[in-house]
Amino acid sequence: MEYVPITKPPVDQMPVLPNLRDYGETRRHWSWDTVRNELDGVPGGGLNKAYECLDRHAKGDRRDKPAMLWEGKNGERETYTFAEFAREANKAANGLSSLGVEKGDRVFMFLERIPECYFTAFGTLKLGAVIGPLFSAFGPDAVKDRLADSGAKVLVTTPELWSRVKEIRSDLPGLEHIVLVTRRQQAEPGDGIVLWDEVVGSQSDDFETVSTDPENYSVMHYTSGTTGKPKGAAHVHNAIIGQYATGKYVLDLHDEDVYWCTADPGWVTGTSYGMFAPWSNGATSLVYEGGFGANTWYSLIEKYKVTVWYTAPTAIRMLMKAGDDIPKKHDLSSLRYTMSVGEPLNPEAVVWSERVLGLPFHDNWWQTETGCILIANYPALEIRPGSMGRPFPGIEPGIIDEDGKLMPPGEEGNLAVRPGWPSMFRTYWNNKPLYDSRFQNGWYITGDRARMDADGYFWFVGRADDVINTAGHLVGPFEVESVLIEHPAVAEAGVIGKPDPVAMEVVKAFVALKDGYEADEKLRRELIRFSRDRLGAMIAPREIEFVPGLPKTRSGKIMRRLLKARELGLPEGDTSTLED
Ligand code: AMP
Repeated sequence: MEYVPITKPPVDQMPVLPNLRDYGETRRHWSWDTVRNELDGVPGGGLNKAYECLDRHAKGDRRDKPAMLWEGKNGERETYTFAEFAREANKAANGLSSLGVEKGDRVFMFLERIPECYFTAFGTLKLGAVIGPLFSAFGPDAVKDRLADSGAKVLVTTPELWSRVKEIRSDLPGLEHIVLVTRRQQAEPGDGIVLWDEVVGSQSDDFETVSTDPENYSVMHYTSGTTGKPKGAAHVHNAIIGQYATGKYVLDLHDEDVYWCTADPGWVTGTSYGMFAPWSNGATSLVYEGGFGANTWYSLIEKYKVTVWYTAPTAIRMLMKAGDDIPKKHDLSSLRYTMSVGEPLNPEAVVWSERVLGLPFHDNWWQTETGCILIANYPALEIRPGSMGRPFPGIEPGIIDEDGKLMPPGEEGNLAVRPGWPSMFRTYWNNKPLYDSRFQNGWYITGDRARMDADGYFWFVGRADDVINTAGHLVGPFEVESVLIEHPAVAEAGVIGKPDPVAMEVVKAFVALKDGYEADEKLRRELIRFSRDRLGAMIAPREIEFVPGLPKTRSGKIMRRLLKARELGLPEGDTSTLED
């Protein structure tokens, strides 16, 4: 079906003048140096994300402006101005420093969206150490793999979450301290376990942000590939340039805005756009700890008078499912601009939101590795529903063939980007060869398939690999297969993404059993529970199908592509490398 483009009024007639007024002109004259000059830099030299997000505002006119409006899952409310936020981050920096954290050390956060998560993040960055945010729904294996690979020195968590994973402790000799935030549940210190209130609570709220080099590491996010366990995509302080610029021109943040990013900091959107973009732009940001609920979400927009809203296609599809009557019961008139990221945004969702909310969702594209938005629909430009939009100024994407040659408009190929933008990842932790392999013929290869139309709008086609996108989160099949084969009944396992109308894909496992085990409902449920307990509900398979054996190449690799084709009833394609 053809969707009609959604046109916009001329910029000077828009109720709020967009920051990006002339796309073509800005693109032609773009300079990252100009953006860098809008940031302050640490006095005495260097660039530090915490300085740009907190210190510079805490020292200036925005000191008493709310930076974070927090609402807890039980309805608790707290507000932190930029000055208060900076002081809390200073206390965290002093506390972590008292535990021996130094520049370059990794501090991991296994926390729900509570204020201490944000204090830890910025306290760590102030010290010049590196943050590693973990999704709070992870199970012990998922947490252990990431802590072990990164060599984390400190884990900040809560008693509830720690009790879920504490069995991993003996496998992590490098993990020196576990800091428990006892906001909701008390705990006892002991054996490397310390309490936030004791370590951080009594610290001075004065701390001078360390002068980090723009190329020093700042944040690492584990992301999934086709093979091997998740890899730590490491970003540097320089990334703040891209995050600030896209916050200004894609999120279109203005001083009056109340911005809400629904993503969790365990995923890159929750840091780049839940922390760095809004706060480097001095915006007021809502942080809601609780999960999805159509009524709750609309109520939050109404209560906090949210103006700019950044969410994800799965959530939008759930809002659509919840019906058109719920939004009518709320005053959503504060909203002026809405965006979406993480998975393809169906054109129907754009049309729906325009009809029901009076605002179309603006899709944009990026990935953990890119650190910031690279392709977007902008407030001032026409939206083509179903398209991810046009390149950000200063970004040169291309559709290329297997030899790295540019393909003409309209043709499908690999989505690639010319390297060199400020927020590009700098390595996969402990895996430089894999990092290097992502760059070919002068391009960064994104792993996505796409096409570009004659006007330069990009259209997502699919992944070029077996990585699964469930509710906007990437899951590597290998991580799931590895856990399944640890179960005594499992001989082998192959994992794919099965299409789903809401979550886009759900994780499905094909399992071949060892002799002597019965493929029955009880075992199926046990395997699902077994994977959930180890990986967490988001990564674990939602569905398990027992099969006598799995299709493999002659070299013994499971052919997930074939499993997927069979699942979808599609032609099986080239099976010449299939094992006899
Ligand atoms: P992650 O690194 O977890 O943020 O996931 C990045 C991947 O999510 C991309 O490589 C795409 O496969 C997918 N993705 C992100 N944004 C979009 C979008 N707007 N449209 C389609 N796919 C997207």
